[in-house]
Amino acid sequence: MRLLIVDEDLARHDRYRAVFASLDAPVFDDGVIEFSLRDDAVSRGEMGDFEYVYHRALTEAAAEVRRSVVSGQPFAIALIGSLQNDNIGAVSHALREADGNLNLAFVVDDQDDAAVNLRDIAAPADKVFFLTGSYDVDEIGQTVLRLAARWQADRELGDIRARLARQHVLLGEQAAELAANESRAVHLANHDPLTEAPNRVAFLRAVAERARQPGVFAVATVDLDRFKFINDTLGYVTGDEVLRQTCRRLEEVAPENSLIARLAGDEFGLLFDTAGDEAAEMTCDRLVAGCHLAMRVLGHKVQTSVSAGVVVSHEREVHDPLDLMRKADLALDEGVRVRRAVQDGLSRSIERGELDVLFQPILANGSLQIVGFEALLRWYTDEFGPISPATFIPIAEESDLIHELGDWVLARSLDAVKTWPDHYVSINFSPRQFGRINFVGHLMETVQRAGVDPRRLQIEITETALFDDVERAAETLYRLRQMGFRVALDDFGTGYSNLYNIRKFALDALKIDRSFTEGLVREPVSAAIVRSIAQLGQALNVEVIAEGVETEAQVALLTAAGASHFQGFLFAHPLRSEDARSLAENGLVAEQQECDPVAIAPMILV
Ligand code: C2E
Ligand code: CA
Ligand code: CA
Repeated sequence: MRLLIVDEDLARHDRYRAVFASLDAPVFDDGVIEFSLRDDAVSRGEMGDFEYVYHRALTEAAAEVRRSVVSGQPFAIALIGSLQNDNIGAVSHALREADGNLNLAFVVDDQDDAAVNLRDIAAPADKVFFLTGSYDVDEIGQTVLRLAARWQADRELGDIRARLARQHVLLGEQAAELAANESRAVHLANHDPLTEAPNRVAFLRAVAERARQPGVFAVATVDLDRFKFINDTLGYVTGDEVLRQTCRRLEEVAPENSLIARLAGDEFGLLFDTAGDEAAEMTCDRLVAGCHLAMRVLGHKVQTSVSAGVVVSHEREVHDPLDLMRKADLALDEGVRVRRAVQDGLSRSIERGELDVLFQPILANGSLQIVGFEALLRWYTDEFGPISPATFIPIAEESDLIHELGDWVLARSLDAVKTWPDHYVSINFSPRQFGRINFVGHLMETVQRAGVDPRRLQIEITETALFDDVERAAETLYRLRQMGFRVALDDFGTGYSNLYNIRKFALDALKIDRSFTEGLVREPVSAAIVRSIAQLGQALNVEVIAEGVETEAQVALLTAAGASHFQGFLFAHPLRSEDARSLAENGLVAEQQECDPVAIAPMILV
């Protein structure tokens, strides 16, 4: 502990020295401080050693105090023994400014006005003291010790306060961290860590919550097909990534404001508002179509597809979320069952003679001359009746079955084209067929073996097949056209058209998707799209074939937009081979018999 003595009179310095030499540290006993005087010169005690610093001038003393604070060794007491200095007020103020904790003890003759004044100047008052009378050794010694003890206690209290303040801050930080942890825990409890989507718990809660609100809503369960196979063959890291990408994809294609959750393994849940059963089924169809894609995952090309089951809440019914989910699961299972049955049936369809290919004329705008026929596959089953290719082709696409069917369609089409004067046959090839190893070689060989000129074969391919691997696709198309085949880009405008890349493809025709033709009369947007597709076709110097033409009004608008060819029920339905042949020979006659049961059969949703 440090003590500062300021006195002009050097003789007094000696007297102080004598006094302090006999001081002993106070003994703390039950809060009562006792002082004792000691004979030996060194003062020790629980407060540690005393160090005394003497100065004659007040200004120097002030500088000393400032230094002491800076160096972290402050004085406990400044004992000021002279009040003769005119500057006493200013210096006392300076001392106090330099060290707010310093005890100032003035030795005065009397508690006069100056002293009272000083109490204000050097406030706080409880750190200012006056020692009156002569330099009584006892009194000065005891006062110094008492002040020293107080200073020490104040200091410790200050430390405790500072520590408490620090702890307070720390506690605040810990509380904040705890809150963050808690929200993290809440997040974890409600989310699937793999996809970051809400989990089953959160989904059930959301369904329950939605059920309490008015309005019709739907709960769908969506299952990734063949996920076990993906996991087993490509490993779980790839499997995880497929799940993540599927989840992202679902978020993209799901209606706005729907909730997408991962319910379990490869099962997702969807909650969305809907107008009714039909709208909900359409939404699910879109989901299924949107998730039927070739993903590139960690270097693997993975073909994914999903199945969906949906249940629609009906108003004024009480809905139990678990019950809704069970129903959606049942619908899903039913869908999966139908899908399996379709797959099984399809694999035997050829040998059972259940397949047929119909041919729908494609006509030149203006002359209305038939230039070719599109080959459209038909499947008539005992179990389900006629099934639309829109249903069974995607299922066949999931396995090598598509190649078997494709080869069969190709063979039938080549048989047919040979019976026509000079028309071409336009054959649909799915992305998987197009991506088959040695696609061009296989095709060429088959066509040559059939003795058909490649010029009489048009290959219809969708954008999806092309934009997956642009360079390879461009090369394949180039080779096909080199050999004389015609190439048409099917369903144009419905996929993710990349207009920049389209220049790279060698094409003969763009086929405007049926949905645009359909919307042409009532939707200005469809008309604008058709116009720009037609313009693009003209710029690329390719034919523009409008599909799904059903009315004269559409013909007028399509003609105005610049379509060069038509295909649709207005001119002819898909026809049996014999009928196509007579049409090819005789041209279009007014009366057309309808012979396409698929056109009127309800589509089975899987
Ligand atoms: P797509 O290539 O767009 O075929 C045109 C579809 O439009 C055909 O449906 C046809 O029957 C229908 N269509 C033609 N004109 C009209 C019309 O005026 N109004 C209406 N509402 N529809 C019309 P389809 O035969 O049911 O075929 C559906 C899809 O199945 C085809 O769409 C095609 O993507 C696929 N597909 C059909 N046959 C084959 C095939 O042999 N191989 C492959 N890979 N896919 C095929
Ligand atoms: Ca087509
Ligand atoms: Ca089409």
